[in-house]
Amino acid sequence: MSTQFLNVFLGEQYTRHLFLGTKTNMTKRKQLYEGKAKVIFEGPEAGTLVQYFKDDATAFNAQKKDVIKGKGVLNNYISEHIMTAVGDLGIPGHFIARLNDREQLIRKLEIIPIEVVVRNVAAGSICSRLGLDEGTTLNNTLVEFCLKDDSLGDPIIAPEHIFTFGWTTKDELEIIVEDTLRINDFLTGLFLGIGVRLIDFKLEFGRLYHDQDAADDNVIMLADEISPDNCRLWDAQTNEKMDKDRFRRDLGGLVEAYQEIANRLGIKIPDLDS
Ligand code: ADP
Ligand code: UDP
Repeated sequence: MSTQFLNVFLGEQYTRHLFLGTKTNMTKRKQLYEGKAKVIFEGPEAGTLVQYFKDDATAFNAQKKDVIKGKGVLNNYISEHIMTAVGDLGIPGHFIARLNDREQLIRKLEIIPIEVVVRNVAAGSICSRLGLDEGTTLNNTLVEFCLKDDSLGDPIIAPEHIFTFGWTTKDELEIIVEDTLRINDFLTGLFLGIGVRLIDFKLEFGRLYHDQDAADDNVIMLADEISPDNCRLWDAQTNEKMDKDRFRRDLGGLVEAYQEIANRLGIKIPDLDS
């Protein structure tokens, strides 16, 4: 997104403030939340946030942890690329602009506490849960929901739980599933075009309120990130893993794999050693 656009969106003084950040360092902003992979800061204007991509890697509900130099920068650039392409399809999303190597300006949403998992091929938790061999092609795309709650281990839930506990309305869940399936179709093609199989991925959505007093006057938006941290991506020729399973399974070469995804998508990544 151009500086000119941001000037119109945020006002010139904010745009100048935003770009004062150094290449990879956090700028001085009020921290609102620190998660496992990102930090959320107050944005320059009401209704905006800044999300900072850390190098921290976690797996198995944060029981396994490490810091992998360069991962945050790669995810920032890859997620910018994918979120922009998904936005171009007409699916509303929180992404406004990448500010620097580690930070994005996003719209502040009320996050829906559900992880939407899409599976095209069996891998990860579904294999142990249902006794499937990794790599089994599913008869149809499977959409699963997990409650976003680390203290409970993000348990799998049914739509009935979502409605019973009021996490979304039926209309909202319909929009979420429709957007999710469109994103899956689009990303499957995007990745196949660069010789990569999209095995599964996780999405998060939130609500943007136009008017805080009118609770039903809201828009469902895609939130968080789409990167090799929350997708399973296998090389189409060799089935080599090019995603966070390299860390989960101690395979090594995570940065090289993420860099390869970026290269194939035509994304120019800055020198990760500088
Ligand atoms: P976690 O919270 O699971 O450790 P992260 O480290 O990725 O995950 O932290 C990012 C947090 O920011 C997540 O909890 C995510 O739900 C939240 N988030 C993502 N996009 C938005 C948004 N647009 N508005 C508000 N919160 C967001
Ligand atoms: N996923 C994620 N965050 C989570 C759980 C899963 O991004 O908290 C992604 C994961 O990277 C994979 C997909 O969702 O692409 C399905 O993950 P799965 O349920 O198999 O869980 P895992 O293997 O992480 O236990």
